[in-house]
Amino acid sequence: MYDALVIGAGPAGSNVSYQLSRKGFKVRIVDLKENIGVPNHCSGLVDRRVVDAVGEDLVMDRPQIAEISTPLGTFPLSSDRMRVIDRVALDQKLSAMAQSEGAELSLLTSLTEFHQKERSIVATLKSKKGFEYVEADLIIGADGPASAVRRNLGIRSPKLLKSLQFDLSRKSDRVKINLDREKTPDFFSWEVPNGNETEIGASGTNCETVVRSMVGKDSIVRKRGGLIPIGPTTLGRGSGFLVGDAAGLSKATTGGGLYAALNSGNTLASAISNGGDILPNYQRNWQKSFGAEVKRDYNIRRILDRFEKYYSLWFPLISANVTGINRVGDVDYPSKTLLYLLYSLPFKIPSALREFVTESVPS
Ligand SMILES: Cc1cc2nc3c(=O)[nH]c(=O)nc-3n(C[C@H](O)[C@H](O)[C@H](O)COP(=O)(O)OP(=O)(O)OC[C@H]3O[C@@H](n4cnc5c(N)ncnc54)[C@H](O)[C@@H]3O)c2cc1C
Repeated sequence: MYDALVIGAGPAGSNVSYQLSRKGFKVRIVDLKENIGVPNHCSGLVDRRVVDAVGEDLVMDRPQIAEISTPLGTFPLSSDRMRVIDRVALDQKLSAMAQSEGAELSLLTSLTEFHQKERSIVATLKSKKGFEYVEADLIIGADGPASAVRRNLGIRSPKLLKSLQFDLSRKSDRVKINLDREKTPDFFSWEVPNGNETEIGASGTNCETVVRSMVGKDSIVRKRGGLIPIGPTTLGRGSGFLVGDAAGLSKATTGGGLYAALNSGNTLASAISNGGDILPNYQRNWQKSFGAEVKRDYNIRRILDRFEKYYSLWFPLISANVTGINRVGDVDYPSKTLLYLLYSLPFKIPSALREFVTESVPS
């Protein structure tokens, strides 16, 4: 009998297991993979606050410029906060930390289903050895965007965006984001420097065509892909709780989910160890820590999607405010940038409008 059964040994699952184990809980963690972190689907681009939490040793690159391209032009933003981390090493480090605190890890083991039995849950796990029935006080779904725990709890799925990424054998010194919605109607395409290689990727229905068009003459070192959940969902039900991508906590504007994966695990572990009614405490504290930003981010995305046809208005507004965006811009808190833009609107709108009108009216 365990205190907690954690499904998924990605960053969310290993971190919540570490946090619970160090507080004295008996934790079992299972993952269907053979090796922790492999294959890796993620670009590993984070704000430095993630590095502060997980360690400098994981940093592979420190790009200083993010070049944003739109159909109307390109503008460079600069930041000393961006870091590219070794995602496989992150997963392995967090898993080792959880195990060193006593969490029991089973690889090549997947969750088939679980059900409530009085005050605990009984889960059916499948491995090469066959089926195993495990009892625990609670179950934590850290099993990523297509979460089986979420499905078993009867919680609705967020929208899942197919994403594809190729690693190219060339160096680059900057992050590039292409917001041309003609090419990537559901999201955007990206380029992220990663030491001696460069990752190129895109999300959405035609992501493969987009990524292939970005390859150029460089050779492809590896191809990988995954799903990005868009739109947060419920954090749990009964004795089942969700963290990270299983709860749809990736940012709807950028797809970045590592900060939320770690943060949600910390919040859930505190709610469990504080006793009392876990779910309302988890929901309330998550809302206070980062949940409100995840929701704001989802709303920003909906606004951007709705006003996409006014793209030509956004471009001059943003390009007229590059210095300010460099100052306030924060990849984990896009709402800071939006608020800054809205705040500066009365002062900038005349020039933005001027450019908009000049761009729109044929000469
Ligand atoms: C192409 C791409 C690029 C990305 N780039 C970035 C980026 O640059 N920066 C950033 O912050 N975020 C990025 N993300 C998002 C980031 O990868 C996720 O937010 C992060 O992986 C979430 O961690 P997690 O632990 O919740 O889920 P995951 O990392 O998906 O881990 C889930 C684990 O559960 C296991 N599992 C699944 N089902 C079962 C089951 N039934 N039984 C047992 N085990 C199971 C899986 O094997 C996996 O190990 C990217 C995502 C994609 C798709």
